[in-house]
Amino acid sequence: MAFNVTQIREDFPILKREVNGKPLIYLDNAATSQKPKQVIDSITHYYTHYNANIHRGVHTLSQEATDAYEQARKKIQKHFNIAHGHEVIFTSGTTDGINLVANGFSSFLKTGDEVIVSAMEHHSNIVPWQMLCERTGALLKVIPMSEEGTLILGEYDTLLTEKTKLVFVNHISNALGTINPIEEIIEKAHNYGAAVLVDGAQSCSHIKPDLQALDVDFYVTSAHKMCGPTGVGMLYGKAEWLHKLPPYQGGGEMIAEVTFEKTTYADLPHKFEAGTPNIAGGIAFGTAIDYLNEIGFDAIAQHESQLLEYATAELLKIPGLRIYGTGKDKTSVISFNVEGIHPYDVGTILDKLGIAVRTGHHCAQPIMDFYKIPGTVRASFAFYNTMEEVDALVNAVRQAQNMLS
Ligand SMILES: *Cc1c(COP(=O)(O)O)cnc(C)c1O
Repeated sequence: MAFNVTQIREDFPILKREVNGKPLIYLDNAATSQKPKQVIDSITHYYTHYNANIHRGVHTLSQEATDAYEQARKKIQKHFNIAHGHEVIFTSGTTDGINLVANGFSSFLKTGDEVIVSAMEHHSNIVPWQMLCERTGALLKVIPMSEEGTLILGEYDTLLTEKTKLVFVNHISNALGTINPIEEIIEKAHNYGAAVLVDGAQSCSHIKPDLQALDVDFYVTSAHKMCGPTGVGMLYGKAEWLHKLPPYQGGGEMIAEVTFEKTTYADLPHKFEAGTPNIAGGIAFGTAIDYLNEIGFDAIAQHESQLLEYATAELLKIPGLRIYGTGKDKTSVISFNVEGIHPYDVGTILDKLGIAVRTGHHCAQPIMDFYKIPGTVRASFAFYNTMEEVDALVNAVRQAQNMLS
């Protein structure tokens, strides 16, 4: 099936809306993606036809809901090439998955141990680890980045020691679009016996990671960044790790037997899935994965790289415009500033013209401190964006510059 952006846009009802009297141009995909009607329908269908709690009832509705939810787990397993279904843990999102692992590592770390993070992380992949270090006395080290917004791997080599227990990096930076060389990062960590967690929140809408080939220990993502609903995500963990980690939350669903003397825990994956989950969300996450695969990740990557290349070239023609994150491996995220103008002011004018971009620090303050700026304007493109929308963005930025300088 040939890639046809006009046809694809028909799947997204929200793209028909107007904002401030102008057609919506949605370029905030790195914050959350829009949802195709297939995903929206899947949620409506669940609540209309078979809403019931899962893994509990013998009645028909409960069995239908359980089957659909477990089917979604299988879709995730297959999509990410995960060896076992019980290595897929449903979470409420990336942040939840990282906290689950960070909490579990509290039992393994002690004073003198070391963990390594990168300089270009989202706050969700910094703060839970800082809290872990406070609890355990472990030391947090940082892989530095270069002016072009890429990690300095030579420095990583010097940070790794026999004391390193865990390394956590994002696959793709949400603030810069940089694709990090996680294969190399994982392999080097493993040479020292350290485990690796990869934050895939920003990558899964652009590429299809093969988790067995990567040999990663933990991988986390959120459905809402890949056309699925908010409030659901997945944590992949190698079974050997998931067996070792203690449960994160206690409650229903995660137990084998409960008495007041002693409770035993359920097997994987239920050990980490206490309470009633986001059933509709989990099912719709599976629908989103089907939808993206139907379009195809090769076609998505090709279209997005055309958008990135064109938008980069056109924006750079604007005098005084600087792009942050200029490494050669990057996805369709452009963080920029126009000289002498605050990013917030640019964003406000773009909104008046119907264009949605993100402004600010993008939950990555250390990157902004590195560049000594308060924030950036971030335009992030998805496969449903068009070349005409790039033109509209560039014209709008020029207009903002004329009005504000
Ligand atoms: C969005 C994002 C997160 C946080 O995801 P939530 O869905 O808010 O939990 C973490 N890391 C990166 C790189 C992100 O882009």
